[in-house]
Amino acid sequence: MSCPAPEYVLSLDIDGTLETGDPPGPLSMESALRAREGGAIIGSCSDRTLTEQRIMWDSRQITPDFVARKTELMDVRNTFPDAVAYIHVGDTDVDRRWARAAGFSFVDSHLLSEVASSVDLGSWLALAEPCEGPPTRARQRLP
Ligand SMILES: [Mg+2]
Repeated sequence: MSCPAPEYVLSLDIDGTLETGDPPGPLSMESALRAREGGAIIGSCSDRTLTEQRIMWDSRQITPDFVARKTELMDVRNTFPDAVAYIHVGDTDVDRRWARAAGFSFVDSHLLSEVASSVDLGSWLALAEPCEGPPTRARQRLP
């Protein structure tokens, strides 16, 4: 018997990150779905309105686990308090700043074209910049 993969939150910027963005980014929707199969709770976190984000997912017949504005990353984190990791993928300093503020590890989407198969938690974390956000839940448990 195999254990299910631990769940982690994978927040995706759209423009400059996902293939459906304007400009298109390096991350395919198929890769996002494969990440989900590997334990990712997937959704978008973008400057686009929530309605625009839902239309984008609908156009690919995918129901995301969440859609959020960049300022709402902390809410995404609080929605999934038991996730083992929180990762935001984006292409700008704005993404980086909001990710850090909400305690997400940040992955620069420009790295993805070189590593097309980042679909499991370990490979995402290998790409992530050092996290300078609030302490993780694991750290909070320490005295
Ligand atoms: Mg972007």
